[in-house]
Amino acid sequence: MFETQPKASHFVGGAYMEDRDGEIIDVIYPATGEIIARVHEATPAVQEAAIAAAEAAQVQWAALSGTERGRILRRAADIMRDRNHELSQLETFDTGKPYQETSVADATSGADSLEYFGGLAASLTGEHIQLGEDWVYTRREPLGVCVGIGAWNYPTQIACWKAAPALACGNASIFKPSEETPLCALKVAEILVEAGLPPGLMNVIQGRGAVGASLIRDPRVDKVSLTGSVPTGRKVYAAAAEGIKHVTMELGGKSPLVIFDDANLEDAVGGAILANFYSSGQVCSNGTRVFVQKGLREAFVARLAERLKGVVMGDPQDPSVNFGPLVSARQMDIVQGFVAQGVKEGARLVCGGDRIDQPGFWMRPAVFDNVTDDMTIARDEIFGPVLSVLEFEDEADVIARANATEFGLAAGVFTRDISRAHRVIAQLKAGSCFINSYNDAPVEAPFGGSKQSGVGRENSKAAIEHYSQLKSVYVRMGAVEAPF
Ligand code: NDP
Repeated sequence: MFETQPKASHFVGGAYMEDRDGEIIDVIYPATGEIIARVHEATPAVQEAAIAAAEAAQVQWAALSGTERGRILRRAADIMRDRNHELSQLETFDTGKPYQETSVADATSGADSLEYFGGLAASLTGEHIQLGEDWVYTRREPLGVCVGIGAWNYPTQIACWKAAPALACGNASIFKPSEETPLCALKVAEILVEAGLPPGLMNVIQGRGAVGASLIRDPRVDKVSLTGSVPTGRKVYAAAAEGIKHVTMELGGKSPLVIFDDANLEDAVGGAILANFYSSGQVCSNGTRVFVQKGLREAFVARLAERLKGVVMGDPQDPSVNFGPLVSARQMDIVQGFVAQGVKEGARLVCGGDRIDQPGFWMRPAVFDNVTDDMTIARDEIFGPVLSVLEFEDEADVIARANATEFGLAAGVFTRDISRAHRVIAQLKAGSCFINSYNDAPVEAPFGGSKQSGVGRENSKAAIEHYSQLKSVYVRMGAVEAPF
């Protein structure tokens, strides 16, 4: 029997910590609706312990060489890869995502992040600026205590994407997972300590939004990185602004995927599937507005419906299952509401969209055709397996329509015309773009949104700028000339 109940609710100061005074959070397995663990929300005492431990440990950590810090992160990456099987099982229990996905996308992505930033740590430097005989040197210094707040769709990956660059730069990290998925980040902290991370540098505390909000307000916290929705982003950004704190905002999207007549049909359909139904559609960068050029639309919709017959639902721990439940009853209600709204506003439901009458939060992936730009399902982020097909004729027109949204997280284009591919991508207002592909997120590439989808970038060398700051030191070599 797989043990889903963690040793304790929180991980603070290098060890598990419990405080039963905190309100109970039931952890529900989305595939069955059963309670598989219980954790307690962090009380003010737990929050204080986490912040104090982080603050106390950070100075010495920053004093190590980058090579020493990096070695620990890379060791943690190796441990994560060795334990991929059990970590993937836990991710599946926490989120409901099928093991077929979690075994290749979660602990593995977290390990990539630890390995990448572990490797980068030794190369972090300032620069030398010669000014005649005087000179300036810059020191790349950590920010201090960095708080990460996560969404529920990628609990292992999000914890690693926030902790790895923070730790590489010499910061301490406190992570608050989503209350829906509190289990996986605890394992990340456990593994980092096993790899040699000194106590206090990676803390995980549980709680709802209020716990995150109270962490951000604490004057000892220097930075917050949020992965969540735009409305939550507004609140977190405003709270951080009160203390003039550094922020990274990884928020929602309603991304366009533009498919031209000349695209390879199978690849375009495959791309649309990856852009909409991975993790049962609960992916921030999903290309949920699928603009298909008039000449290809009918064939595209027919082939898509055909390929959706390959969806296999069942026990998500079974490696042959390729489609899981939604994360919660609440999310199910939200997504079902959007499906009903799509039908009401006149879109054609080609297939799926129906709730499956069994325990857990299961629905069939939905494809809507004849969707128009003004419909609710084409405007709002649904965060579920609902794909909208919108027809277009003209390149300039589709670019304008694709950009007509407050979001700007991702965008994709399928075409065999290489010039057109680059021309279109250059005009789409989005942070993460794809040509003849969709939803790849290698650690080597910056990831993040433009417009209301976010501020800052995760992954890649770009993340270093968001977890460190430069100190300029002017060095005068000659006499000081003062006016009096
Ligand atoms: P939410 O915005 O509801 O919550 C995100 C996190 O913020 C949760 O841990 C939540 O806690 C916490 N939170 C809520 N209110 C506050 C507050 N006032 N102060 C501090 N923290 C708070 O998002 P979901 O968890 O529902 O995730 C889905 C959203 O995340 C979608 O919009 C999706 O697009 C986005 N997302 C963005 C990604 C990106 O990289 N751009 C990647 C993945 C998801 P709790 O849940 O416990 O209430």
